Amino acid sequence: MQAHIPSETSRRVVILGTGGTIAGRASQASDNVGYTAAQLGVDQLVAAIPALAGQALEAEQVAQLDSKDMDFAAWQRLAQRLAEHLARPEVAGVVVTHGTDTLEETAYFLQQVLAPFKPVVLTAAMRPATALQTDGPQNLLDAVALAREPGARGVLTVFAGAIHGAEQVRKVHSYKVEAFASAEGGQLGVVEEGRVRCFGAWPQGQALGLASIVRPAAEWPRVMLLWNHVGADGALVRALLDHPTQRPHGLVVAGTGNGTLATDLEAALREAQASGVRVLRSTRCDAGPVMDLPGALPSAGALSPVKARIRLLLDLLAEM
Ligand code: ASP
Repeated sequence: MQAHIPSETSRRVVILGTGGTIAGRASQASDNVGYTAAQLGVDQLVAAIPALAGQALEAEQVAQLDSKDMDFAAWQRLAQRLAEHLARPEVAGVVVTHGTDTLEETAYFLQQVLAPFKPVVLTAAMRPATALQTDGPQNLLDAVALAREPGARGVLTVFAGAIHGAEQVRKVHSYKVEAFASAEGGQLGVVEEGRVRCFGAWPQGQALGLASIVRPAAEWPRVMLLWNHVGADGALVRALLDHPTQRPHGLVVAGTGNGTLATDLEAALREAQASGVRVLRSTRCDAGPVMDLPGALPSAGALSPVKARIRLLLDLLAEM
């Protein structure tokens, strides 16, 4: 993919809306959980922040959904629109408003496909736009500041003032406003009063490119996720292998500890592998890699199970 490096004068920020709680509405301001996500348009989110008035901004609605329902077609559209906006010389960076539930998956997917030379900043909210103390406007303001930060690059997340990279970021709390963290001290920086403080290096990587995801979404490989746990066995894997229409192309297993698996689950996964299904072993631990051992099922390295699933999905797409 061509390198689109922002010039000194690039100040324009494009904000792509995809829905989520940041665009959610509840019937009462005191209700932080009984709301409907994806109700307000991205232009309304921008208009609600006086500090953004008069800035060089564009808003575009790419999707309008609760991110629990994010799908491959929306990912394709989003990647396409991002690539187009990132190629514009006057654009410093792009912000994506998203739901918190699958934000880390979208971030990882976009980093693999685009590995942009400009910042693509995903942000979200844990409280709907109607809440007494909604966190969305500050997160969006911080995201715009980060999208304009000279030298910033890659797919980033800004949430509650903390900047995370796409590979490390995880949603770690189901309710608290500080809902995201990076494993193993991987937080990249902070945004404070509109100023960005970066602790280390911005992410770099090789983009797979849009050509890697052009296949119609309905034809994308079926990669499923399983867990090891007390009493786990191979019944689910064998049922999938026998399924007449939903047989998977790939299986990611969130093993225990260093990717360990109950004996019968491992046996079933080896049967799957022998029958042509690609298998990757991750860990259900919150951090740390799965060490590759001779003879063991392939490791997903330090990727979380959901990101290992995307890695395998992209690998399988490349092989189709
Ligand atoms: N279910 C919502 C979503 O992911 C949650 C959120 O945005 O916080 O879209």
